[in-house]
Amino acid sequence: MGGPETTRFAPSPTGPLHLGHAYAALLAHQAARETGGRFLLRIEDLDRGRCSTLCEDRIFEDLNWLGTHWDAPVCRQSKRLPLYRTALDCLTDRGLVYPCFCTRGAIAREIKGLAGAPQGPDGPLYPGTCRYLSHHEREARLAEGAAHALRLDIGLAVAQLPVGELCFEETGQGPAGETGRIAAQPALLGDLVLGRKDLGVSYHLAVVVDDADQGVSLVTRGNDLFSAAHVQRLLQALLGLPVPRYRHHPLIRNAAGQRLAKRDQAQALAALRESGVTPAEIRRQLGVG
Ligand code: GLU
Repeated sequence: MGGPETTRFAPSPTGPLHLGHAYAALLAHQAARETGGRFLLRIEDLDRGRCSTLCEDRIFEDLNWLGTHWDAPVCRQSKRLPLYRTALDCLTDRGLVYPCFCTRGAIAREIKGLAGAPQGPDGPLYPGTCRYLSHHEREARLAEGAAHALRLDIGLAVAQLPVGELCFEETGQGPAGETGRIAAQPALLGDLVLGRKDLGVSYHLAVVVDDADQGVSLVTRGNDLFSAAHVQRLLQALLGLPVPRYRHHPLIRNAAGQRLAKRDQAQALAALRESGVTPAEIRRQLGVG
């Protein structure tokens, strides 16, 4: 066995926790306990408009009920914006980031009109429209105060990577059964948004900064985030951050075979608890000790 693992559960307080969340939390908790390590709780509340303290309180309640107690004060992303800003500035100073003035609608229209729009695992990628703006056009739009996101120029970013393969270790499984040493595909999601128009930061950037800052050695989460690991690995390389190992788990599905979502109230932990299901039964069902 390796050394003590630092693991984390990182929910967004936008709805009730369901069995899928319990899976990620229990795997993280188990790995920390089995190795004499630490289990951390991080509240991913960047999108203040979608988050609520009520949801947050319910998360605490659900985790306590499950028996997953965290070992340090709760970390809240909304309190860590300066840290993300520093990381973003570091990439901006290296010329890897550009402002993107496109609206969602404009991007969708542009993609529709393109014959061979670049594709990612979840659909078409940003076609790079604002990457082609001249310096003059960019400055003019910024000067007029046009709303913009900040995107990573993936071509320039990949060109700055050290020679050789970027890899990460998968101790669970990706959606197509990927496991073991995985060669990262850094360009998988194209010109990533690093600074959202509304928030100034994005999920990918915040997660790599936090995982490094909190000393997370093992990331457990659903395999819907497996493609995120590829680009998070890229950000770790660009920012010189340590690389955790990953344990992606299969998604828990409802009776119709769809991945659980907020509408699956029956699989919410609170509903299961009220119907008399015990934490031991949940652990058994998920196969986590
Ligand atoms: N906050 C993300 C979610 O609730 C999880 C992020 C992660 O584990 O990297 O889906």
